[in-house]
Amino acid sequence: MKKQNVLVVGAGLAGMKAALLLANAGVTVYLLEKESLIGGQTIKFEEVYPNMECATCMVSPIQQDVLQNKNIELFLLSELESVEGETGRFKVKISKKARYVSLVNCIGCDACYEPCPVNLDNEFEENLSKKKAISVPCAGALPNVPNIDPENCLRLNGKKKECKACQEACVFDAIDFTEKDETLDLEVGAILVATGFDLFDIETLPQFGYGKFPNVYSAMEFERLYAQNGPTEGELILRKDGDLKSIGIIHCVGRKEQGYCSGVCCMYSAKFAHFLKHKIHEAKIYEFYTDLCIPGKSHQSFYEETRQKGVDFIHNETIRVESQKDRLQITYRDGNGSDSVVPMDMVILSPAMIPGKGTEQLAKTLGINLDKHGFFNTQNERLSPVSTEREGIFVIGCAEGPKDIPDSVLQAEAAVGKILASFR
Ligand SMILES: Cc1cc2nc3c(=O)[nH]c(=O)nc-3n(C[C@H](O)[C@H](O)[C@H](O)COP(=O)(O)OP(=O)(O)OC[C@H]3O[C@@H](n4cnc5c(N)ncnc54)[C@H](O)[C@@H]3O)c2cc1C
Ligand code: SF4
Ligand code: SF4
Repeated sequence: MKKQNVLVVGAGLAGMKAALLLANAGVTVYLLEKESLIGGQTIKFEEVYPNMECATCMVSPIQQDVLQNKNIELFLLSELESVEGETGRFKVKISKKARYVSLVNCIGCDACYEPCPVNLDNEFEENLSKKKAISVPCAGALPNVPNIDPENCLRLNGKKKECKACQEACVFDAIDFTEKDETLDLEVGAILVATGFDLFDIETLPQFGYGKFPNVYSAMEFERLYAQNGPTEGELILRKDGDLKSIGIIHCVGRKEQGYCSGVCCMYSAKFAHFLKHKIHEAKIYEFYTDLCIPGKSHQSFYEETRQKGVDFIHNETIRVESQKDRLQITYRDGNGSDSVVPMDMVILSPAMIPGKGTEQLAKTLGINLDKHGFFNTQNERLSPVSTEREGIFVIGCAEGPKDIPDSVLQAEAAVGKILASFR
């Protein structure tokens, strides 16, 4: 086909990398993101394994490039409504929600947040902090421009129609309550699906004590607790009743239920141990695993280094988290059938990666299939790992299945290669 515009759905690391590669090759890219910011899950991390690189330093130049690239048209708060036609001439409809704040006028000074009377749980921060009805999800969000949540804004939901506290606080005339949701029609030659993943709901497994005992955290909560731009500004723990002497990290939560190994949890659990040992030298860190997955040339040395720091890796057949006299304890059965009990001050649960919310609906909209685990299916896992069964539609990153950052980027590069090679 001749050179065509391309639609990329999802502005996580995989989607951003694909969009930039295409744009730098002179292709016009429409980049669709359902949230108010770009970056996906990786912007929640403080550091990334295997070299404990600063995640913000790695991701923010990519975010900046996306925002500044003239060949990329970014649609935030947007989702795909329908797709018609075939490769080389897809007609797509996009629904774009109103932001109510101008991306041009706003300078991100945050003067409008404080006067807003509405306090809400901040889902981006795993509900560990509050936000206003006008807000950005986290410090350092890109674009650094808030949006108004119309369901909770008192003016927009009609509960207090005269409220304009945020608008009065904004001296840059950036807030516009009259902005409307839009539907847009575009024509594209190819579509790249990069909608990422979600995490297994650990509350469905009561043996891990999540939601029941304090100081039992999910992996993503822990990521936000130790992030400098997180709800505690990197002050690891909200606990006030003593030191952290003993910390247990439980791998493979939900692995049995999902029926696959995510291939990432062992490594990010080792990342947590690395961080904890660095922060609290004297703490005893335990990694409880059912199967260790340490693939790749750089990962093995990271694992060895973690062990050398004194982290205990313990194989278990069964495991449960309980509380005894206000202290957590982990009871596990090892491969020989012996039971052991270890007291804990904090437990971190590392859940399986699962298909993102809305994957099923999106597959219907795109006219493509899902695999048996609910991720987008590809033509052939081994020989055609980024092409779907519908010609001209590709799937990359964790939308295709659980994987880490290098593999997500690798798929982005592969799909872009296929698209560019198809242009005459
Ligand atoms: C706790 C944890 C720690 C990790 N640590 C590391 C690490 O240290 N090193 C490493 O290599 N890997 C790590 N990973 C893996 C890493 O997070 C993934 O490899 C990476 O995020 C995959 O990027 P992605 O772009 O495919 O997906 P995501 O990061 O999930 O991005 C997907 C994007 O698509 C958007 N989206 C979703 N649905 C739609 C839709 N319908 N329409 C429009 N937009 C949509 C989302 O809002 C999001 O912005 C970790 C994973 C977890 C769970
Ligand atoms: S109009 Fe009022 S309720 Fe709505 S975002 Fe502004 S300050 Fe908050
Ligand atoms: S909307 Fe106005 S007050 Fe709020 S961050 Fe933007 S410029 Fe500042």
